[in-house]
Amino acid sequence: MDHLSVTRGTFWHVTDFHYDVNYTASTGSTDDMCWAKTSVRGRTGGNKPGKFGDYACDAPLALVNSAVDAMKKIDPNPDFILWTGDDTAHVSDQYFSEEKVLEIISTLSNIIQQSFQYTLVIPVLGNHDFHPKNQAPIGESSIQSKVAEIWAEWLRSIDTEAYSSFRSSGRYWADIPNSSVTMVALNTLLWYKSNDLTSGIPDSDPSGLDPDGQFVWADELLTGLSERKRRVYLVGHIPPGSFERYQQTQAGFHWYQERHNDRYIQMVEKHAAVIEAQFFAHHHTDSFRLFFKDQKTNDPGTPISYQLIAPGVTPWRSTLSPETGANNPGIRLITYDRGSGQILEVSTYYLNLTKANLEGEADWTLEYDFTSAYNLDSITPTSLYSLARDLKNERSIFEKYYQANTVSLEDPAKCTAKCQTLHWCTITEVDYTRFNDCNIATLASVNSAMALTLMMLSVLIR
Ligand SMILES: [Zn+2]
Ligand SMILES: [Zn+2]
Repeated sequence: MDHLSVTRGTFWHVTDFHYDVNYTASTGSTDDMCWAKTSVRGRTGGNKPGKFGDYACDAPLALVNSAVDAMKKIDPNPDFILWTGDDTAHVSDQYFSEEKVLEIISTLSNIIQQSFQYTLVIPVLGNHDFHPKNQAPIGESSIQSKVAEIWAEWLRSIDTEAYSSFRSSGRYWADIPNSSVTMVALNTLLWYKSNDLTSGIPDSDPSGLDPDGQFVWADELLTGLSERKRRVYLVGHIPPGSFERYQQTQAGFHWYQERHNDRYIQMVEKHAAVIEAQFFAHHHTDSFRLFFKDQKTNDPGTPISYQLIAPGVTPWRSTLSPETGANNPGIRLITYDRGSGQILEVSTYYLNLTKANLEGEADWTLEYDFTSAYNLDSITPTSLYSLARDLKNERSIFEKYYQANTVSLEDPAKCTAKCQTLHWCTITEVDYTRFNDCNIATLASVNSAMALTLMMLSVLIR
């Protein structure tokens, strides 16, 4: 083996399958999540859903299987698989029970396990993996304990501490064998503003500012990993900062409670030296975020850390706002240096859903390689900051990014100059106040009453 093949490793990042057990090809209704027209929901309009999915719906089993088959075909021997959650469909809680959610998590886990029998899998739960959705309890819960059993083989293959840590808190850490990389898997659901089990806790209660003591846990862990000279990949389901596909208000749309967004930024600032990269999901879109030294006060700051947000497998068109849109299904292969932990390449593979349905065949192909598409020597906070400035100023480079943002679904011409500014602000300003100041160019195109109605309608978001 040559030197490169020894030091280079790969891993898959897959996420947001949103497998819908009720998806019914041909006879379902695209007006009704592609459920059968005789289903309990009883709506009858819409078009015929295709074999591999529809942009108005979540993923049928054929799409889930084709994604995992593609992973197996493209790289059957990755060092590990990062799987960042959201396994169930975007339908109301009344159609679910804890048992049904667990069944879906179990089905997807089995599909991955059967294709990658000997591969280390690093899983976390998404906000759609609880019942009721978004309501992840602090500490132990029935659903989390049962998921720990489903994932017992994976988690125990890391060590018994990873297993018991996930079971009791939804978080854990794992050294990747034969590398300097340590995965720190966070339970981001505790910081979600739609999680009523944490959002109502006042700041005066220690669980308000730091639910389940996760920031304290991460602080001690990262300090120890720095002493061990490890390179950390911070991973989780919901990312900090603002969503890049929401133009309804200048303040934008974000997921974390502000107090937790602030603490997340502080954590990254303090431990930037040991954090090599961050991998998150939940948006279903392809984007990235930058963190800066003294972010609150310095402008322009020095970039110190970055986060890559991976596209989802589900193509589902979000109800959050009209401009949020749908996406083609995506999966992502990441090449890294096992010694330094540095990310060398990010290769996104995708399924052109329209074409797949027409041909009756799922032909997953390379969408793009990050470094060659953007002509970068390396992926670092500095190179990504330089790319971000190019995205802001050079339309042709921005259009490449925008094309990738929906996994080659939406025409970049749809994104106006204001929309382009919004993307720049979400990438470079993870802090909410600073994002709002930056996003002055994105004027609400609807009046506030209309925006409120849209907000009320968007209960099923992401
Ligand atoms: Zn999702
Ligand atoms: Zn999610």
